[in-house]
Amino acid sequence: MKKIKAAVLGATGIVGQRLVGILAAHPWFEIEALCASAESAGLRYAEAVRGRWRAPGDIPPGAAGMVVQPCLPDIGVRLAFSALEAGPAGPIEESFARAGCLVCTNARDHRMSADVPLLVPEVNADHIESVRRQGYGSGGIIANPNCATAGLVLALAPLHKAFGVRRVFVATMQALSGAGYPGVPALDAVGNIIPLIPGEEEKIESEPLKILGDGTRPAGFRVSASCHRAASLEGHLLSAAVEFERGASCQAVAAAMSSFAPLRDLGLPGAPAFPLFVHPDGDRPQPCRDAGRGDGMTVTVGRIRPDRLFDCRFTALVNNLVRGAAGAAVLNAELAVRRGYLS
Ligand code: NAP
Repeated sequence: MKKIKAAVLGATGIVGQRLVGILAAHPWFEIEALCASAESAGLRYAEAVRGRWRAPGDIPPGAAGMVVQPCLPDIGVRLAFSALEAGPAGPIEESFARAGCLVCTNARDHRMSADVPLLVPEVNADHIESVRRQGYGSGGIIANPNCATAGLVLALAPLHKAFGVRRVFVATMQALSGAGYPGVPALDAVGNIIPLIPGEEEKIESEPLKILGDGTRPAGFRVSASCHRAASLEGHLLSAAVEFERGASCQAVAAAMSSFAPLRDLGLPGAPAFPLFVHPDGDRPQPCRDAGRGDGMTVTVGRIRPDRLFDCRFTALVNNLVRGAAGAAVLNAELAVRRGYLS
């Protein structure tokens, strides 16, 4: 298969760097353009990220010498990955879609728009069809959810299908990398936990309902979220309690999660065979030990146990930069290719 040329918008940020790393080794896509703000435009990529390269390994050699471009849609690519800051992301992504480009975005700007699929391929692959209703012709916008939402919906999806979710309480401990780079000042972060991430609780309380809805109406359950910024580097930890419509034992919950493998036969390069791993050890998951599971695409779940107020509680760990961001956008693009959107 001839590789599809793609642009990375916001290529210099912490998520953009992950996109560059994943795309440099991708079997279907290749980087045609790296784009960022006016401050970075005109610099070679290696210069633009000098002193702030935070992705694993070195800058891919093919990207290091590329000249960073402004985010203008005349690049002529059919596919763009956006890791733009919220705000500028909105109009820039629309301009690329109008130019016939399929934009797979991490930014929040379009997530809750009616015809923008808020896509997690294992959970709501059919929602991708709404791209055709956006009015951009061959272009369009596909969003992946908030990084903590991504972990929560993957854990909830097999449970909602098997037992019906009635209500969820979730408390998060979210890594510093979730705030971008340079992010939270060291004097606020080190040895500390901050019980506020502006706007985050609203996203975690609304996005799962759109994702687990039927594509037109949101799911009917309720979510209460309490979010905290913790001094871990990568991987958001979620402590969730769930009440079901139909009773379920903790063994049944663990079995539903462990056997969840909806993309197994699709051959998408970025999809782990099993998106959920139920860890048998009582002190897992932990950000330091579990954020890299499945190259960052597998959500680790542990401590599944009965709850005195709800039916069941568990802890989940999602890699915010990969499953919650760069890897999610790439997986969405892979699904789009499989469904014929880029042919
Ligand atoms: P970041 O490190 O602050 O990077 C922001 C990127 O946006 C940089 O490449 C920056 O370019 C570019 N940018 C900012 N203003 C711009 C403008 N006016 N025009 C063009 N480019 C502009 O942020 P991040 O953490 O990578 O997050 C990127 C996006 O992903 C955000 O929308 C965020 O909400 C979302 N997200 C982040 C995470 C996470 O865990 N960090 C997870 C899920 C989703 P310069 O370097 O040139 O300024």
